[in-house]
Amino acid sequence: MRDAVNGRRGNAGQRGKDQRWYMEQYKSDECLCGRPKARRYAFCFRCYASLPRDMQRALWRRFGQGYEEAYDAAAVYLGSL
Ligand SMILES: [Zn+2]
Repeated sequence: MRDAVNGRRGNAGQRGKDQRWYMEQYKSDECLCGRPKARRYAFCFRCYASLPRDMQRALWRRFGQGYEEAYDAAAVYLGSL
């Protein structure tokens, strides 16, 4: 887990995470919940499957075009933030 809330990067409005954080999480093989996940998926299958439909769909947005917000919303829903 990384905590980048230093204001060092000047990346406004991302609530402490920058785009690279999401990209790394996206490409990693570990879900927020600690279970393994497939690379290039936001969450493991179990987390993903427990999300409401509209949240699942939102996660297919592109980076910088809503993905980050969708990820955060899903993470809050899953109780991991
Ligand atoms: Zn998970």
